[in-house]
Amino acid sequence: MSSVVLDKVTKVYPGDYLAVDQLSLKAGDGEFLVLLGPSGCGKSTLLRMIAGLEEITEGDLWLDGQLANHLAPRDRDVAMVFQNGALYPHRTVRGNIAFPLEIAKSDPAMVRERVTELSKALHIDETLERRPGTLSGGQRQRVAMGRAIVRQPKLFLMDEPLSNLDAGMRTELRMEISALVRSLGVTTIYVTHDQVEALTLADRIAILNRGVLQDVGTPAQIYNDPATAFVAAFLNSQQLNLLAATVRTPQNQYVLLDFGPHRLTIPWSDPRAYAISQHTGGQVLVGIRPDGLVPVPENFEGPSFFGRVRTLEYHGHEWLAYVECGVPSAPVPEPPDRRAPANGHSNGSGGLGGLVRRLFPGREEQQHQDQEHVGPHAGSGIHRRSDIIVRLGGRPAWRPNDAARVGVDISRIMIFTESGARIDPPRR
Ligand code: ADP
Repeated sequence: MSSVVLDKVTKVYPGDYLAVDQLSLKAGDGEFLVLLGPSGCGKSTLLRMIAGLEEITEGDLWLDGQLANHLAPRDRDVAMVFQNGALYPHRTVRGNIAFPLEIAKSDPAMVRERVTELSKALHIDETLERRPGTLSGGQRQRVAMGRAIVRQPKLFLMDEPLSNLDAGMRTELRMEISALVRSLGVTTIYVTHDQVEALTLADRIAILNRGVLQDVGTPAQIYNDPATAFVAAFLNSQQLNLLAATVRTPQNQYVLLDFGPHRLTIPWSDPRAYAISQHTGGQVLVGIRPDGLVPVPENFEGPSFFGRVRTLEYHGHEWLAYVECGVPSAPVPEPPDRRAPANGHSNGSGGLGGLVRRLFPGREEQQHQDQEHVGPHAGSGIHRRSDIIVRLGGRPAWRPNDAARVGVDISRIMIFTESGARIDPPRR
């Protein structure tokens, strides 16, 4: 067992690419911590720095209270499993799993016993005398995991270990990893871009985007109470409705979110009202999950939007309605791209480009002007920018082209600043 502390860890790759930016994070003793984020956000880089396979440019790594920045990988007592758990093709399953113990010249009887025990836990005891070439992808990944864990490392690092498996096998192995790792009590850091994997496996999830830590908390905390618009959008199985609104406080009677054709009233009794009112005259971003919206009768007097149903989409267990409401959906704010201008992108501004600026003073900075929707759901064809997505039950209340009034559960809307931070930051 082991604890891991990252203190303002930064990684700059050659070509001044800032892959991880001043990231601070802790994995407690025996904790299962998942690093989640889109491809290229720096998850593997972080894992490799913890393993000692990648140098840390700035900041400190502490393993079990010991400064580990320059500790050789073999002295870290860390085991790692990759996407393609490469196995020794000419060794049997038993030989593969036993390998780390044989190298350490462990007692052969103990090795045999441990390998047998572990292979049972991993459901590969029937395959012990076979070669990797005769195994399925799922079985090979189990062997790779067995080999990594057999010498009971202090820290278990897994880099997308399930991403090459088919959906059924992923679910099965996911449950087994969870059970195995927890029964061993080994501190585990697990990298994935799959939100379902993260939500189902983690004790806590750390979400990254463009090398910047966005949020960290239990699955329920980050799903129900996300710190940023990016997190809210990333952890949404359907697209998050994200709409820009101007804040008004008419005669100080209440707080109004003005979307142009629609308005939502926030009473002063709402715990967020004061924080929102601080933005009076300015813009905020309002995030509403499709299941926070509901069809209501035409004459409904509570908080609502009004529009026309453009299309309905069947998802088996539910329908989604795309309602044209005349409010353009806002792009999900993201940290600036940290590629150097030489690569055609800016270094960003604020704290983000701090290190690059220090390393390369005088470099002219420019703001990234790309106004395209580049959030986690970018590229989906169905979501027109002025549709509001409403989750309907198994029997849709509307048909295409119907006039639709959409009731809003005010308690479930999330309000963010223009840069995507929650107006009422969650307490963790
Ligand atoms: P993730 O695991 O989240 O997909 P990575 O940590 O692999 O992301 O990569 C983060 C960013 O750093 C990516 O843009 C990637 O292209 C870049 N990167 C990764 N490894 C190197 C390297 N050895 N040299 C230069 N850039 C790299």
